[in-house]
Amino acid sequence: MGFIDRYVRALGASNLQDDARHRQAEPLLASAFAAAAVSGDIGPLLHRVKYADDLMRDPGNLAQLLRLWTAEVVKRGRHRKWVPENTAWDAQAAQKLYRTVAELSLAHWLDGICRACGGSGQLNQQVCRDCEGRGDAPIQDAGGFVRERVKDMVSELHGIASSHAARANARLNVRRSTNPK
Ligand SMILES: [Zn+2]
Repeated sequence: MGFIDRYVRALGASNLQDDARHRQAEPLLASAFAAAAVSGDIGPLLHRVKYADDLMRDPGNLAQLLRLWTAEVVKRGRHRKWVPENTAWDAQAAQKLYRTVAELSLAHWLDGICRACGGSGQLNQQVCRDCEGRGDAPIQDAGGFVRERVKDMVSELHGIASSHAARANARLNVRRSTNPK
């Protein structure tokens, strides 16, 4: 059983139609938000968003996640010197860029599968024309400069989420080997 399956099982949230179980998962979500706010590590949160789609139904949760992610994008964008922020005008333009990149990258990471082929890259036994066989949706509403930054941040999101999955998986394996059942 892969980590995702075990994780969903551990939450008792495999059947999201079940309201009583659904509510049980809420404290875990709240603690993931709290931990992310303190540590700046949004890995646990990203993991929940992607694999427990109950979170997706609540726009308040997504808004909160977007705020945390925007703060991360600002850090990364400054570190990589995307744009100058020397004047008030520059700073304002930079903020707008960080927000746009955060919004587009999170949306693409959450739901970036090509609609035409469902992510397979093929349609009617031919290479899908919409995505040119890559299986992912084009990044919407962005010119070249922004699009490159969005791609960069989408790969950061993949990195954060997969390193969290690896860490959590290692913890589960340790617990199993010390407490065999
Ligand atoms: Zn496609």
